Amino acid sequence: MTGIVYLVGAGPGAPDLLTLRAAELLRRADIVFHDALVHPDTLMLAEKAEKIAVGKRCGRHSTAQRFINKRLVDAARTHELVVRLKGGDPLLFGRAQEEIDALEQAGIEYAIVPGITAALAASAAVGVSMTRRGLSRNVTFVTPRTGAGEQGRDWARSALAADTCAIYMGVGEAAQIAATLMARGASPDLPAVIVESATLSGERRIAVRLADLGAAAAQMITGPAVILLGEVYARVQSAEVTAETTARSRAA
Ligand code: SAH
Repeated sequence: MTGIVYLVGAGPGAPDLLTLRAAELLRRADIVFHDALVHPDTLMLAEKAEKIAVGKRCGRHSTAQRFINKRLVDAARTHELVVRLKGGDPLLFGRAQEEIDALEQAGIEYAIVPGITAALAASAAVGVSMTRRGLSRNVTFVTPRTGAGEQGRDWARSALAADTCAIYMGVGEAAQIAATLMARGASPDLPAVIVESATLSGERRIAVRLADLGAAAAQMITGPAVILLGEVYARVQSAEVTAETTARSRAA
C-alpha cells in the first residue's frame, strides 16, 4: 500500500483561518507532520492522527530537512493519508519544494492545499490594501534569509523595485535591512509596519519610517513577525491588539 501526502497550509495563526479542505483532510488524516508554529486547536482537528512535530521555526540546516523528507516518504508507505501541515501557505518560504521533490523521486502521490500567507494576514490586520489604487500595482514577498550553503540572491533589488513589499524572517536583522535599503536609494521616510503574531492573541503592530525600523524591531519581538513596506502603509498607527479586540472582531 502507498498512501497520499497532502502538503497543507495551516494559515497565519488563528485556527479559524483554515480552509475547509484543510480541515477535512486533518479530520481524515492518519498521521500529521506539523511545524512548530501551528496552533494547538488546529492540530485538535486531526482527531485520529498520530501527530509529529517536525518544528523548525525557520529553515535550519538541510540534514533536518532531509530527515523530514524521508519521514514523509516512509509514512506514505505505511499510512493511507499523510498530512504535512505548514504555517501560512505551504509553498511560500516553507521548503515545500524539497519535500515535493523527495515524494516525486519516491513515486509517492501528493497534492497541495494552499493557505493564507502571513503577509496577507498582516496587511489585513492593519486594514490596508497591498494594491491600493493609485499607489501600488505590485507586491513582493521577500526574505533576506538564506539557508546554509545557499547562494544569496539580491533580495534588496526586488524589495526596492516593489510598490509594496512584505519581508519574511527579517525582524531579527531589521536594522541591517533598513540600512541596506536606504544605502541603495530607499527613502528614510518610507512607511514601514512590523506586524507581530498576526491573527493571534498578542497581535501587535509598530508603524514607523524605514529609518526607525531597526529601533522599532528592537522593542519587540517574541512572536513571528513580518515587515510591511510601502506608501500604502502611510496612515497605519501602532497598536497592540488585546484578546478583547480580537474577540470583538471575530464576533462581528
Ligand atoms: N509559509 C509561511 C511562512 C514561513 S516563514 C507563510 O506562508 O506565512 C516564517 C515567517 O513567516 C516568520 O519569520 C514571519 O516572518 C512570518 N510569519 C508567520 N506567521 C506569522 C504571523 N502570525 N504574524 C506575522 N508573521 C508571521
